[in-house]
Formats: sequence, C-alpha cells, structure tokens
Amino acid sequence: MNKYLLVLAIFLIVSMLTNAQTKLSYSVTPWLDNKRGAVSLTFDDNIKGQYNTALPIMNDVKYGFRGTFFTITGSVPVAGVGSWSYLRDEVAAKGHEVASHTVTHRNLNQLSDTEITDEIVNSDVDIEKNIPQSKCVTIAWPFGAGGDNAKVVTESNKRYIGGRNAWGAEWTNGDPHDAWLKSLNYNMNVLAVGINPDVAIDKYIGYLTGCLQYKWLVFLYHGIESGEYDGPGKDNFIKQMDAINAKKQNLWIAPFGEVMRYNAEKFAQNLKIVSESNTQWILSLTDTLKDNQVYNHPLTLKIQDPAWKFDSISQNGKKIPHSILSGFVYVNGVPDAGQIVFHKNIISAIDNKSNAKNLFEIFPNPAKNELQIAHSIQNVSYTITTTAGHSVQADVLVQDYINIEKLKSGIYLIKFKTDTGEITRKFVKE
Ligand SMILES: [Zn+2]
Repeated sequence: MNKYLLVLAIFLIVSMLTNAQTKLSYSVTPWLDNKRGAVSLTFDDNIKGQYNTALPIMNDVKYGFRGTFFTITGSVPVAGVGSWSYLRDEVAAKGHEVASHTVTHRNLNQLSDTEITDEIVNSDVDIEKNIPQSKCVTIAWPFGAGGDNAKVVTESNKRYIGGRNAWGAEWTNGDPHDAWLKSLNYNMNVLAVGINPDVAIDKYIGYLTGCLQYKWLVFLYHGIESGEYDGPGKDNFIKQMDAINAKKQNLWIAPFGEVMRYNAEKFAQNLKIVSESNTQWILSLTDTLKDNQVYNHPLTLKIQDPAWKFDSISQNGKKIPHSILSGFVYVNGVPDAGQIVFHKNIISAIDNKSNAKNLFEIFPNPAKNELQIAHSIQNVSYTITTTAGHSVQADVLVQDYINIEKLKSGIYLIKFKTDTGEITRKFVKE
C-alpha cells in the first residue's frame, strides 16, 4: 500500500476519533462487585468467644470474613480478653469494624437526656481514642431501645452514619430497594437476624438464599461457644461460615459500616464526562456526601462498553482493575477521589475502524540491513527479541527505519510500544 495514502487514512481516522463523543450510560450495582446480596456478621457485648473462637475462624484464609464488633466501651476488657490493644491490633488492624454498643449498656429509653448524650458520644470518643487508625461510624443501641426516642435518634445521627437494631429474630426488611431506606430513621434501625442455638443450619442457609435477591442480611451474634449467651457452639459456627463461604461468589461479606457507606454513596453519586480525546475518556465520580474521610468506599460502576477498545482504566493516576461482561464494563471507583480515565487503545481503534492492518507494517521481510516501518505515531519505542524471548536490540523509534545489520540470521519478533498500546510483528533477518 502507498505509504502516503496510509498516513492520510490514519490522519482521517484519528480526526474522527477525536471528534467522536462517546455516550455515557451507567448505573451503580446494588452491591460491591455486582454481588447479588450483602451479608454483615455483627457481634455484640464483648463476649470472650467472639475473640477466642469466632475471630480466628473468620480470619482463616479459607473464609476471610470481616465482621463488626459492637463494643461496650466501658467494659473493655471483659474477663481479661478484648483489651483496647487487642481491639486495635487484632480486630481493627485486620479489617474488622469496632463500633459502638454504648459505654455502659443501659436501656437508653430509661436515661436522662444528658446520660443519653454521654452514652452515645463517649463510646465513639473511646473507640477513636484507642483505635486511632479507624473511624467509628456505626452504633447498636442496647436492647434495640431508642428508635422511637427523638433524643437517641438525633444524638446518634450526629455521630454515626448507621445503626443496627438489636432484636429481629425474623429478618423482614433488608432490601435496600425497599421502603426501609426512605422510612423514618431507617439508617439507625437496620434489622438483624439473631443467632442462637435454636437457629438450625437449614434455616441459616435459607436466610442466605433469600439474601441473593439483592438484599442485605445482618446476622447478630452474642456468644459463640456453647454455654455463652445465645452461643451456637463452635462447630455450628463453623457450619454457618461454611454456608456463607459456599455462596461467596454471589455474596458481598462486609462489615456493617462498609455496607452503610456503600448504600449511602450509591444514592448520592454522580458520574459525568469531563472530556474526551483520541487517547482518553475522562470521567468524574462525585457524591453529595460531605465527609470524604467516611464516604470513601469504592462503588462498582456498570458502564456501557464504549465502541472503542481501551488498555486500562485509572483513577487519580493509579490503575484500577476492570472486567467486561455482556456489553458492560465493571470498575470500582471512589467518589471524590480523582478522575476516572479510560486509556484508549489507538492501534486497535484504528485497526478496527479501517482495517488498516498495515500500521507498523515492516518491509522488506526478509530483510538484510534495514527494516522499514510504516507509522505516523509519536513516542514509539521498539524491542527486538529472539523467538526464545531474549531481547537483542531496543531503542526509541526516531526514523522510519531500523538498522538491523548487527543481528544474526534468523527469525525475530519486534514489539512497538506507543503511549496507548503495543503491537508485535515478526520478521526474518537474512
Ligand atoms: Zn447488647
């Protein structure tokens, strides 16, 4: 093909790409990584078996489940276990959530306004003072008491983004798409399924299956070992973790506060196009939530696959993983944490649009002294390797030919690298 025609063709295609505006069509998946349900394991009352039995099991790589420990801060440690250094180094530092279960575990409905404030505020202060690396963002009121008490609700909303109710043997309204999200004090009254020795494994599995309808299932544990308050026993606890593990593909297992964050961000987010060029498609992901130190959880964006190919996606300059499924790109972005950039693959875009396979075509082939290269792209480097993968020559491409006099006779691969992609050609040195 005539080289000048080729250059002209590429110029036209690149101009077309520059002017084309990609339409943004997207949604945020109900839960992280497009999972079909969310499960939170929550533990109340600083009970020994939670630390000695449940935690090591959950931390086992086989499971890797992170839970929420609603801690009575005035009772740390209990019977020599669950000290602040333990909660800091073995619980929070391993990704679990340490959250408030008030200071003294009294029924908030029976306290004065000042006492209510003390319980709600000081437990938060205690946790953040002793575990400086994590923010305490959720609370569980003792005995589930407080939902109809304006003082309790107002004070809680000032310090926390969510709360879990204590009772709720039956799990009825965990669906984030249902009315509970819009109901009064919804975020402070999330129902939980209480676990005790009477919850048979089939029933437990039934809850998990029900959760797969894009719901949120919160389990409430007190004791773990047999003999502890409501303790199902270690063997039963393992069976329950196995049941969750069997559905891990479809379930997002996350601490209570993380699910709260995700849910709030999902309703407050906005994804917009900033600009588009022939090399980049730049999007901004923001939310209307003020505290970016709390609301920094990644959201899974489901974006209609653009017509062009891309090499990678980055946020704030860092590459972020993505997957493509049935015409959609799935990528996790953090709101208010920098632009999300799709890095277009120019070579494949040109190849696709024009069938101009001759881009970076090399000739003659076989070649003796010089390889001619058809290209019109800036900032190209190349590497020549043997078929065994040994690099024998590499440089920046400054001319439209490469001197190969020094190569021994044989078959070689030459890889051209541009700002947006790579292409490999094969040639024979005579
Ligand atoms: Zn309690």
